[in-house]
Amino acid sequence: MPARYRIIIDRVACIGCEVAENHCPEIFMLSSGDGKCSIKPRYNVKTDDTVSIGIIPESLLHCAEEAVDACPVSAIMIEPT
Ligand code: SF4
Repeated sequence: MPARYRIIIDRVACIGCEVAENHCPEIFMLSSGDGKCSIKPRYNVKTDDTVSIGIIPESLLHCAEEAVDACPVSAIMIEPT
């Protein structure tokens, strides 16, 4: 079975800078409601005011890592499922 990874966005720390979405629009988007980052519906498993969690395939790992490295407040984490 192909590897999958869990993406966790700390939506309290997020400043809504759009950098994650610019680096990896396949996974990340700004929510129209509060202007903070969340996982796109296709990969989203849970989003509330404080956190957004998604599961992505290995094919998107590099994309997610670019967003992690670029986030100015270190609000994105990746862990194996
Ligand atoms: S790069 Fe970080 S601070 Fe900026 S929108 Fe994405 S998660 Fe939020």
